[in-house]
Amino acid sequence: MLNGEKTSISMADQADVAVVFARTGTQEQRASGISAFLVPMDLPGISTSRFEDSGQRAIGRGSIFFDNVSVPADHMLGEEGQGFKQVMQGFDYSRALIGLQCLAVAQQSLDETWQWLTEREAFGQPLAAFQGLTHPLAEYQTYVQAARMQCYYALWLKDNDLPHTAEAAMNKWWGPKLAFDVVKQCMLAHGHTGWGEDLPFSQRMRDVLGLQIGDGTAQIMKNIIARQSVPR
Ligand SMILES: Cc1cc2nc3c(=O)[nH]c(=O)nc-3n(C[C@H](O)[C@H](O)[C@H](O)COP(=O)(O)OP(=O)(O)OC[C@H]3O[C@@H](n4cnc5c(N)ncnc54)[C@H](O)[C@@H]3O)c2cc1C
Repeated sequence: MLNGEKTSISMADQADVAVVFARTGTQEQRASGISAFLVPMDLPGISTSRFEDSGQRAIGRGSIFFDNVSVPADHMLGEEGQGFKQVMQGFDYSRALIGLQCLAVAQQSLDETWQWLTEREAFGQPLAAFQGLTHPLAEYQTYVQAARMQCYYALWLKDNDLPHTAEAAMNKWWGPKLAFDVVKQCMLAHGHTGWGEDLPFSQRMRDVLGLQIGDGTAQIMKNIIARQSVPR
């Protein structure tokens, strides 16, 4: 029987199934008293809410409420008491993907902005003639490529069954932050036209900003990297 609320869940009100991590053991067992379940969202006793977010609106976020929800025993994922470990391993994968997701937004914004610099003229020249505009983009082009390689490296480590917790944490704090900075620069390079909602830059900034929080904040990612790096 599942009871309780989990708040701040992506797709809470549009998912058909949820992976739920619930306490099956005692409080004293702490992390090893948590198991994972595949829960169909149409079971009796489940309800959801949706928040008004600044970004990621197509995905949406909300709470899931469980009120005496009876879940069949064969819906347990993996071993009893292994749920916490499983979710932590899942993070090592999803954090690399979130990095790539944000970097794709950054690259798209850069591509559009390089193009824009050739189209818009000021003071009798295309904007591309002004290093004040091209140099920040060139720097960001460099960082985005490096950050993308860093995500691929984490995924390569995973593919080869090698430890990649610190690398995934690096992907997760750097990707969303870098993407936010890149999109902001691209918006500014578009002058007044970039500020309006008819171009996608403010939406993209809000979308990637949310991903600085979801799946673990930058501070927590840096705690993980430090924990893995400080010699024991
Ligand atoms: C867009 C979005 C989607 C999300 N989707 C999901 C989802 O699908 N499923 C899900 O379970 N959750 C989801 N979340 C929740 C998300 O994982 C949490 O919000 C996040 O882990 C931070 O936890 P918190 O909000 O409780 O922050 P808190 O723990 O309250 O932290 C508040 C602030 O304090 C800082 N802080 C806390 N502890 C420390 C410390 N030890 N050292 C330094 N700084 C610290 C944090 O970094 C943060 O800046 C989502 C959140 C967002 C914004």
